[in-house]
Amino acid sequence: MKIHRYLTLEQGLALVRGDKKPQDFGVFVLALQSTNAQLFLVTTACQCCGLRGTHFRVQSNGCYKNRLNLYAATAHGEQLLTRDHIVPRSLSPTIFGLANANLLCQQCNAFKQDALCTLSWLREFRQKVLLAVDAKKVLRGRNRHLQQTRKERKALHARVGTEVLLHWLACL
Ligand SMILES: [Zn+2]
Repeated sequence: MKIHRYLTLEQGLALVRGDKKPQDFGVFVLALQSTNAQLFLVTTACQCCGLRGTHFRVQSNGCYKNRLNLYAATAHGEQLLTRDHIVPRSLSPTIFGLANANLLCQQCNAFKQDALCTLSWLREFRQKVLLAVDAKKVLRGRNRHLQQTRKERKALHARVGTEVLLHWLACL
């Protein structure tokens, strides 16, 4: 991914709030209305492990509008904070905007995959993986379980829909 510009946390948030214009930072086409960008007004920290975003980068993957991506500086380098779809995209073709969005760091998002789970479940699972003697084994077992239960999740989604699943997860 080509890096166009580094922005501080405050500069990026000023853009999303509309207090500053992309041109103020020498950027021209920037997707600020996207759910990803709007999510930064709700939070700038991973909702599972609490990792805090420290800076933004304006980036392009070549064919779309430039995007504002949030990163956290860690001891092991930068970690991207990503938008997680609470009800996974593989189940819900409708995007559902902010109602279906959570900010997760790449690591927590990778732990979640396409599970239908609450944040507290994800936190516990993350702890289990991090404390495991053989973390790869725990992850392999989990991935197998996700694979085996994919049909059930799809059937459940087809029966009740995204909105009901979001409500159900919020009540657990
Ligand atoms: Zn995290």
